[in-house]
Amino acid sequence: MNIVLLGAPGAGKGTQAAQLVEKCAIAHISTGDMLRAAVKEGTPLGQKAKSYMDAGDLVPDDVIIGLVTERLQDADTKAGFILDGFPRTSAQAVALDAELSKLDRPLDAALLISVEPEVIVGRLTSRRMCKECGCIGTATDTVCPKCSGEMYQRDDDNEATVRNRLDVYEKSTAPLIDYYRGCDLLVEIDGDRDPKIVFEDVTKALSL
Ligand code: AMP
Repeated sequence: MNIVLLGAPGAGKGTQAAQLVEKCAIAHISTGDMLRAAVKEGTPLGQKAKSYMDAGDLVPDDVIIGLVTERLQDADTKAGFILDGFPRTSAQAVALDAELSKLDRPLDAALLISVEPEVIVGRLTSRRMCKECGCIGTATDTVCPKCSGEMYQRDDDNEATVRNRLDVYEKSTAPLIDYYRGCDLLVEIDGDRDPKIVFEDVTKALSL
């Protein structure tokens, strides 16, 4: 199964993707995770991406399209993949279509997790992430619930940056909803509920 996951930052895409990956044994391609790893390692890509990420702006299309195109050549994506955080612009969506048609691996669904912006602001400003395994928690988690690693607040989860990320989402990414609706691939799920219930709906909607 080849899936694109759409939704505002903080809608719960990472949480749903992790469960889908486990259930379907497909590759999880999170551009945000790939960029954070590059920043941590201090690679040229990380150095280029950091200022955009800290401001809550999008990393340039050519950089991110190259990154995903390369990742899609990896053998583990042949059994299926879930793209989490990509595409985020029309140019990225068009480039993805072209690459998938070249690889003869069409998308099965574009899954939209919908959550109201004010709910997102509350969620993201209280979100914490594990330094070791990337697991997502809240401000009340002093250590990672999965591996006991140290929890931290992402640089871009402060309120001003969150609001900018939501503006960027509305302007650049939300138009993709109509794009995928037009391709008859859109599946919309209400993400403002317990993540377990959301996942039940996701599995039903994708007939998993
Ligand atoms: P995320 O973890 O998906 O919220 O991504 C964190 C940050 O990485 C975003 O705010 C952007 O700066 C950058 N980023 C991730 N994916 C993309 C993408 N597809 N296009 C451009 N920038 C991206």
